[in-house]
Amino acid sequence: MSKASLDASGIRKRVRATVRTLERRYDGTPLKNGRSSIEQLVYCIAARQNPERKAAGAIRDLKSGFAGWNEVRVSSVLEIADILKQHDIFQPIPKAEQIIRALSRTFSDSHKVKFDELTRDRAEEARVYMTRKLGLPSPVIADFLFSALNYGKLPVDEPVGRLLQRLGLVSNKLDFPKLEKTVSDGLTAREAATAYRILESHATQICTERDPACGRCVLFQDCPEGQARKAAAEQAVIEAEKAAEAARVAAREEALRLKLEAEKAKKAEADKLKKAEALKKAEAKKAEAAKKAEALKKAEAARKAAATKKAAHAKPAAKKAKAGARPARAARRAGTGRRPDPGGRPHTRAAGRKRKR
Ligand code: SF4
Repeated sequence: MSKASLDASGIRKRVRATVRTLERRYDGTPLKNGRSSIEQLVYCIAARQNPERKAAGAIRDLKSGFAGWNEVRVSSVLEIADILKQHDIFQPIPKAEQIIRALSRTFSDSHKVKFDELTRDRAEEARVYMTRKLGLPSPVIADFLFSALNYGKLPVDEPVGRLLQRLGLVSNKLDFPKLEKTVSDGLTAREAATAYRILESHATQICTERDPACGRCVLFQDCPEGQARKAAAEQAVIEAEKAAEAARVAAREEALRLKLEAEKAKKAEADKLKKAEALKKAEAKKAEAAKKAEALKKAEAARKAAATKKAAHAKPAAKKAKAGARPARAARRAGTGRRPDPGGRPHTRAAGRKRKR
């Protein structure tokens, strides 16, 4: 449901329906009063996000421990925080700082709003003064206005405005004052206080500024912001899954690429080794051939040397033989027709016959 589709009456109805939905979960009862205005201011600070009985105990001890609120004002933060701690007050130090700051400015400011003189007619003046001069959180101011001045409006401050904006009842902060007027119309002071406390509790406990717990919110079905956040969260999950899948695919591809590269490198290394091996074998073969050629060469040289030597030995023998053959040829030429006897015997026919016998 968009704000544009709702008129003032529709916005009021929607806010009241929202309050009814939430009232089962939060206590919207306004803070008790019966104190002086200054004391009620300190009480509202102590009771913020704390049970009233604890705040009441702390106020009692502050009053009994110090001569007056002026003395509390000039005390140290730790002194005040110690008393708050004794009553188990949530965030004692920030609250002690708020108490001292509020009291100091109230007592020292010459243009101060006189709290004890305040009436409901001056509630707006008190609201502005407490916001700007005392620097108090808006829920503390609202509690004071409701409990001390019977304030008749439902304040659309930061937390309540944020909640109503997320519900689509106002488009921006500049329209908060106008929305406050619209939603306050027709409410009694007590209804306004109750509605504020319920809406503010939901805004600060569930619909927080930074991280609203839409999954646990009872207003989720009627909340455009909650729906948009859910859709965005689902889209983010889809995107994250896509990114994770893309990362897985990229990782698989990278692993495959590395594997192929490793195989390629391994093959290249094997080829290199094979080539080196082949080269080594070729070189060994070449060396073997060279060795054989060398051996052959040596053998040839040896054979030649032997032949030369043999020839050198054969020459004197031939000469000698030649020399021995010369007398025989001479004898033949002389007519005996016989070769001289190597023993020196004459080659006669009688000598021959005698040798045969
Ligand atoms: S659904 Fe979310 S954004 Fe809407 S009111 Fe609830 S917590 Fe706030």
